[in-house]
Amino acid sequence: MNIQGTGIGRGVATGRILRVAPALKEPEDVARNPQISDEDAEQQVLSALEDVKSQLEARAEQASKASKNDEISDILGALAQMAADPALIGEISKVVKSGKTPERAVFDGFGEFEAKLEALGGYMAERAKDLHDVGQRVIALLTGAAMPGIPEGKGPSILLAEDLSPADTASLDLSQVLGIITIQGSPTSHTAILARSRGIVAIVGAQKADSLHDGDTVILNAAKNVIVLDPSDDDIEEAEHQKRQSERARLLRGKPGATKDDVPVALLANVGKPEDANAALEHGAEGVGLFRTEFMFISSSQSPSVEDQTKAYVELLRHFPHRKVVIRMLDAGADKPMEFLTPENEPNPALGLRGLRTLRAHRQVLDDQLEALARANEQTDADLWVMAPMVADEHEADFFVKLGKAKGIEHVGAMAEVPSIALMANEVAKVADFVSIGTNDLTQYTLAADRTLASVGAYQTAWHPAVLRAIKLIADAGKEHDMPVGVCGEAAADPDLALVLVGLGVTSLSMAPVALDDVRANLAEHTFEETQKLASRALAGEFYPQRTDE
Ligand code: PEP
Ligand code: MG
Repeated sequence: MNIQGTGIGRGVATGRILRVAPALKEPEDVARNPQISDEDAEQQVLSALEDVKSQLEARAEQASKASKNDEISDILGALAQMAADPALIGEISKVVKSGKTPERAVFDGFGEFEAKLEALGGYMAERAKDLHDVGQRVIALLTGAAMPGIPEGKGPSILLAEDLSPADTASLDLSQVLGIITIQGSPTSHTAILARSRGIVAIVGAQKADSLHDGDTVILNAAKNVIVLDPSDDDIEEAEHQKRQSERARLLRGKPGATKDDVPVALLANVGKPEDANAALEHGAEGVGLFRTEFMFISSSQSPSVEDQTKAYVELLRHFPHRKVVIRMLDAGADKPMEFLTPENEPNPALGLRGLRTLRAHRQVLDDQLEALARANEQTDADLWVMAPMVADEHEADFFVKLGKAKGIEHVGAMAEVPSIALMANEVAKVADFVSIGTNDLTQYTLAADRTLASVGAYQTAWHPAVLRAIKLIADAGKEHDMPVGVCGEAAADPDLALVLVGLGVTSLSMAPVALDDVRANLAEHTFEETQKLASRALAGEFYPQRTDE
């Protein structure tokens, strides 16, 4: 039996399963066996803390030696120090003396400090999660439970987890990870986006993968959305063939995107931080098609200053002299809530205050960001384009375009992420300089399926003819009004879907840098007319994927 899920990117990986241990249960709040004295209980806690500290220090040293990655090594070093904090140890001893079990004392002691950090908000609240992780390690040692998180020292493996936190995904040791399977999650969850941006082969939302065991051999085929169990020699040979194809695609790096008959299709990169510019250039991006500006806001409890924002935008723009860089205004709300902007009690956040709606409700944030972009534009010679997320119609597009122009920004456009903008595309094309289609949200809203929910993950595909027809409405309006239409959602990263998008009239594609090779190679193998034929078939629903595991 094969297991269906949703593939991230096109990669193929073969290897053995390594299950990521689930979170520990909360230790029971019961009195300790009276035969264990306070001193003995305290001693058990101290030696577990010491062991966790040494383990973390050893990992920090390993990370620094193995990858010269000081950032990861510093994080691990800081975690090790947490386990030796005298105030924390004092708190735990106090709980031990009240007669509780060592594990409960650790839970309560860490909990006390976690709550204090959380109350401080922002950066400190993030540290509360780190502290929790250290506490969980100590409890696992005390109770003999499997260490939560990613097991170490098991050799290169395919990780299987209920879900991975973005922090786990970000700090994975790529030399030890052949691929990732998650039982929850959808392809446009931000964890999946992170996996794609790190070039990790992944299948998400594979609910039946829960039956897999440590050591099972599998092939992950992201392009086919499938996990192959007990692969035959033929299966393994096919996987190897696919890997070789990817290597060939790499050879076209540096060539601009175009169909076989030289119809140009700009191939741009999606980036999330100014430093990502390097990966974009390395993979041959012709510019940036989507800079998600959330990173500056997400960890802070207030809006970053105009000066700080300007600095970050300049840092990005400097990498792309005379090249197109599309910067998206802050997209707060829904799956990217921001403490100081997003209401806490929205019953359906995806249908609530997000994107341009949030910015309009917080005009100072909107004005400051545009001001910072205008200043950065003056200081660099990149070709800056600015767009707003979640624009519903021509009125909202007009509102934003006028604001941007008033700041002296030359190219101001709208993201198409909700069906209403597709239905009003002709009107929008009269006021916007460009439209960039965010297929992740356009799919979510066209099919009314929350992009973060595995239970409706199967709906999250832009191959659905309804989504493609919405894209066609926008592309047709673009053609008629001479307005560029790009795609910057995850659909652009699927080499086959990329052909269909081009056939529909999309003129640029923006994706995670690691996806560029395969898209470039596939375009180069097809004429424009062939892409148009594929588009007609796709519009008729011919390629709409059917799930086969049900
Ligand atoms: C999209 O919705 O397709 C998009 C590119 O924006 P994000 O994934 O950041 O919501
Ligand atoms: Mg979006």
